[in-house]
Amino acid sequence: MSGADILVIGAGLGGLAAARDLSAAGQTVTLLDKARGVSGRAATRRVTLSDGREARLDHGARYFTARHGRTHTLAEGGVRDGWNAVWTRGVPHWHAGTVSGAADGHPRYAPPQGMSALGRTLARGLNLETGVTVTSLERRAGLWRVHTREGLAAEASRLVLNLPAPQLVTVLEGVDLRGSGSEGPALEAARVEYAPCWVAGAVLQTDIPGTWPALRADHPVLEWLARELTKRPPGHPPALMLHATPAWSAANLERSPEDVLPELLTAASQIAGPLPEVEAAFAHRWRYAIPTRRAPGACHWDAALGLGWCGDWFTPDDHGPRVEAALLSGWSLARRVLHPQAE
Ligand SMILES: Cc1cc2nc3c(=O)[nH]c(=O)nc-3n(C[C@H](O)[C@H](O)[C@H](O)COP(=O)(O)OP(=O)(O)OC[C@H]3O[C@@H](n4cnc5c(N)ncnc54)[C@H](O)[C@@H]3O)c2cc1C
Repeated sequence: MSGADILVIGAGLGGLAAARDLSAAGQTVTLLDKARGVSGRAATRRVTLSDGREARLDHGARYFTARHGRTHTLAEGGVRDGWNAVWTRGVPHWHAGTVSGAADGHPRYAPPQGMSALGRTLARGLNLETGVTVTSLERRAGLWRVHTREGLAAEASRLVLNLPAPQLVTVLEGVDLRGSGSEGPALEAARVEYAPCWVAGAVLQTDIPGTWPALRADHPVLEWLARELTKRPPGHPPALMLHATPAWSAANLERSPEDVLPELLTAASQIAGPLPEVEAAFAHRWRYAIPTRRAPGACHWDAALGLGWCGDWFTPDDHGPRVEAALLSGWSLARRVLHPQAE
C-alpha cells in the first residue's frame, strides 16, 4: 500500500481540502479513511424504500455556509456546475407551537444529492483508500509508518491527520513527541471537548404540512427538524431529519438507536403535528458531533517531524466549528506543508 510523499489520514472535509492542495502542488498524496465513503461528518444516509425509490437524508452537517472568499468560490462554483445549491436563506424558529423568524438573506448551501456530494467533489482524482482504520503510528528512519486494523501498513515521509481530536490522541499514543514542536499541540488536542448529537431520519408516506425548509426548535428533545425533500430534486420522497439537543443527546448517549428512535419521532410530532405513516426510519449517534472547546490556531504543522493535523476543532476564524472551519483548517495545513518558512 502507498508509495506516497504524504499520507493523509481521514477523508473528512479538512483532510480532503489539504489533500487537494497538496496534490495540485505536485505532491503524491494518499488518503486513508475508515468509513466506506468520504466526507466524514458531512454525511448523507441513503435509504432504499420497498418500491425501490431512494431517499437521501443529511444525518450529519445539515447545510454549509461560505463566509470566506475561497469557500464562497467553491460553493458558488458548485452551484454553477450543478452539484451544489442554495438551499435556504433563513431557518425559522419554533417555540411553543409558534413558527417565527424571517429569512436573513444569508445563503445556506446544501448539495441536491446530499451533503456528502461536497466531500465526493473534493475527492475527485485523489488517491484514496476507504474502509481502512488506522490504529497506531510509528516513526522509523525518518519515515512515518501507519498501522491499520485491516493489517495493512503504509509509509510516507510526511503525515497529515484529519481526525476528531479524541481519535487523534488515541493514534498518537505510543509516538514519543517529548521535546518536539508537536508536544504542546498534542496536549491542546487532548483538551478539546465535544458535544454529542443523536439524530433520526424518517421517510414518510406523505409530507407534513408546512412551507418551511427546517425549524430551529426550542424543545427539550429536539433542536432541529428539516424537511429533506426541500433540498432535493423533484420527486424525492418526503423525509424528516431530526437532531436532538446536546443536553438530551448527552443524557441518552449510551442508549441504542432502536431505543431512542420512538422518542425522537414523538418529539417531532410535538413540533410538526401528528406524523404521516413512516416508511423507513433510523437513528444515529454522533459521539463527537460538535467541538465545544477547540484548539487555538488554524492547524498544526511540525516541519521537522513531517507531522501535522487539521479539522473543525481548530479555530481558523471567529465563527463556529463547522464545514467551513474544516475546509479552512485543511487549506491552511496544506499551505504550511508547502511553505513551512512562510508562516
Ligand atoms: C449532527 C451534526 C450536525 C452538523 N451540522 C452542521 C451544519 O449544519 N453546518 C456546518 O457547517 N457544520 C455542521 N456540522 C459540523 C460539520 O459536519 C463538521 O464541522 C465537519 O464535517 C468536520 O470535518 P472534519 O474534516 O474536521 O472532520 P470529520 O468529518 O470528522 O472527518 C474525520 C474523518 O476521519 C475518519 N477517521 C476517524 N478515525 C479514523 C481512523 N482511526 N482511521 C481512519 N480514518 C478515521 C472519519 O471516518 C472521518 O471521515 C454538523 C455535524 C454533526 C455531527
